[in-house]
Parts: sequence; structure tokens; C-alpha cells
Amino acid sequence: MTGIDGGPAPSNSPRMEKPVFTGKFTQQEPIPEAAIEAAVAVMRSGRLHRYNLIGDEEGEVSALEREFAAFTGARFALAVASGGYAMGCALRALGVGHGDKVLSNGVTLAPVPGAIASVGAEPVFVETTEALTIDIDDLAAKAEATGARVLLLSHMRGHICDMERLMEVAAAHDLQVIEDCAHTMGAAWKGVPSGRHGVIGCYSTQTYKHMNSGEGGLLVSDDPDIMARAIMLSGSYMLFGRHSVGPSVDRFENVKYETPNVSGRMDHLRAAILRPQLADLAAQVARWNALYRTVEEGLRNTPGLSVIERPPQESIVGSSIQFLLPGWSPEAVRALVAACAARGVELKWFGAAEPVAFTSRYDSWRYAPAQRLPRTDAILAGLIDMRLPLTFSEADARLIASIIRDEVMGARAQAAE
Ligand SMILES: *Cc1c(COP(=O)(O)O)cnc(C)c1O
Repeated sequence: MTGIDGGPAPSNSPRMEKPVFTGKFTQQEPIPEAAIEAAVAVMRSGRLHRYNLIGDEEGEVSALEREFAAFTGARFALAVASGGYAMGCALRALGVGHGDKVLSNGVTLAPVPGAIASVGAEPVFVETTEALTIDIDDLAAKAEATGARVLLLSHMRGHICDMERLMEVAAAHDLQVIEDCAHTMGAAWKGVPSGRHGVIGCYSTQTYKHMNSGEGGLLVSDDPDIMARAIMLSGSYMLFGRHSVGPSVDRFENVKYETPNVSGRMDHLRAAILRPQLADLAAQVARWNALYRTVEEGLRNTPGLSVIERPPQESIVGSSIQFLLPGWSPEAVRALVAACAARGVELKWFGAAEPVAFTSRYDSWRYAPAQRLPRTDAILAGLIDMRLPLTFSEADARLIASIIRDEVMGARAQAAE
């Protein structure tokens, strides 16, 4: 263990200065130079709108869609304005509308129930397991009880459930699955890219996700009719023939008059920024995972703290890490979060009664009918979440883990006094 200046760490004596972390948990890496150059070229052209093309020019947006389809192995891809837009568009493309019930995870973030509400539908929340994945037994029970036809499955914080079992349950209940891959772009289950089990996969390229265009989203599917509706919805007017990985134009015959335009296109500038990042994504994933495994190792075997073991079938993207504090009182969790914050380590607690910053919980989404998830409540009470931006080094990751471990052990010692 090293101190903040790389020198030897101070001892645990409370009278000694404790090491403090000075990095920023919300600081991203700069946009790569190749992306900046591509963005400048788009600006010099003046042609920022995706359909502002000369002759048979493909354009940055269609090129991104072609490359993202290849990356995920999907037949079709559509680039849109945000991850939230991608989910709303996916729901509409499946015909979800006013008053329909849509199953979704009890632990996720606000854009997921928000997308369901945006089409006038009602979220039905499903319980969560200690692996932070959807509880597949509760899913089956709620599919049965509600008769819902769609599951918006959120791979929250990158945790992927047993996808084979999930798809079996979905088939048995006639459920169509939309995958929210905001936290799993680049991840896989048994080698199948996340977003490729369900009928539609949705991704975000918002700043805090795995590629950064400020705002942005992508949607993939193999189904030509669903993709034709999604393209019309996104605001293609009658220019759907300009998509290099879109369905053939005859697929639009039935949908072009019937599908409303709910504009949410991506523009060439964002696509230009994203294409070089997509080319680098595998290398970035390896860097994230090195940080993740370093923090995980540093936290493992800390009394009072449980790391969340990742199943071997999962290829992860460790852009954030979660751990559990089983049996801790709310006061003790709050004190730990404050003690870590005082040493520069920003932890988020999902058990807080009031929503804070990006973190909220199912009972804060009061536009949805009130629901109780006792198993999820018990997990949220001790669930801690931490970002791992790529601006951190592995030495930073070691220091962060040592600070958390130190404060957890200190809190336990105090509690025992
Ligand atoms: C960020 C996020 C999204 C998509 O969000 P946008 O900001 O609309 O791109 C979807 N699901 C989860 C779980 C997210 O964290």
C-alpha cells in the first residue's frame, strides 16, 4: 500500500494523517484526437443533419450504425438522441401504449421507468437478487399476475442475469424483451453481446456511459418490421432509404403512413465523435476491468462488507463497482459514506430515503402506481455504488479500496466498543 504521494502509507494510528484521495469521480477522459478531427471536418462541411448528404455519401450517422451493428452482431442499428429516447422508441415500436403494463427492474435509474411513462404505460417493478439482477421467479409471477407483454430489462450497473433462464421465462409468458444496455455496452453473457438476447437492445452514449458524445443513444434489432417502425419514429420523414443498415424500403410500405414522427435523431457531429471511440471500446473495457478487479481485490475479505461475485458467464465492463453492507443500520451507512467522502472517496447509497444526484429508487417514482418490493428494500438498505472513471490509475484504485476498507473496519471497531 502506498500513500497519496507514492511514499509509504501512514500506519493505522488515528493520530497519524490518513491518506486522502484527490481524484474526481465525475471526470472523464478527453475526447480522442481522431474524434475531434472528425468533428471539426463535420463542422467545416456545415452538414450536421443526418440526412444532409451529397450524392450517395454515407454520412457519419449511417457509418456509425453500420459499425455498431457489426460490433453487436445485429442486423440493424439506429442512432438516436439519447438512451432514454432509444427505450421510449423501442416501446413504441413494439406497440406499447396508454395503460399497458410494462415489467421492469425494481433497481434501475430514472430514465427506465421514465421511458415507460413517456408512452403512457405503467411500470410494474420486479424484485432484485443479491447479485443485483432481476429476480426471475418474481418476474414469472408478475408476468402471470399482470398479463404484461413486454419486459424492459435493465442491466443495472452492468450486472447481467442468467439470460438463458430469463429468455425461457419470457417465452413461456409471451413476453417481448427490450434490453436497457446503458451500463453493458461492450459486455456479454456467454459470449453473446449484451443487447442481443431480447428483440431490441438500447444503449446510451451520454457522458457517464461507455462512449461519450454528451448525449446520444443507439438501438439494435434483427427484426425488419420493428426497425422500420423505429426509424420512422425517430424522424426519418421519407428518407428511410438513406440508412445503410436499415431494412429494405418495402418494409416501410405498411408503416410510413401509420407511424408518428417523434423526432429523436442523432446528428453527424455526435456520430463523428463516437466512431473512433467505438473502435477503441475493447481496449477501454480492458482498462475499466483492470480498475474494477483492483478495487474488488482490495475490498475482498473485509469484515462487514460483501463484494458482489460476478458469474463466470459474464464478460463485464467494470465502469462502476457495487458492494453490500449487510445488516448495517442507516446511521452507520450514512456515517461510512461521510467518512469516505471526507477522504475523497465518493460513494452512493441506494438506501437513502430521498433521491440524491443521479441516484433514486422505485418508491421515488410516484407517477407509477405504488408498489412494495420487500426483498429489494432489504438489498437497497445496504447497497453502495461507486463510479470508476478511466481518469483513475490502478494506484488510485488501490488507494480508494484501502480507504473504504479502513473506514469499514474503523466503523466496525467503533460499533463493537
Ligand atoms: C443513463 C441511463 C440510461 C439512458 O440515459 P440517457 O441519459 O437518456 O442516455 C438508461 N438506463 C440507465 C440504467 C441509465 O443509467
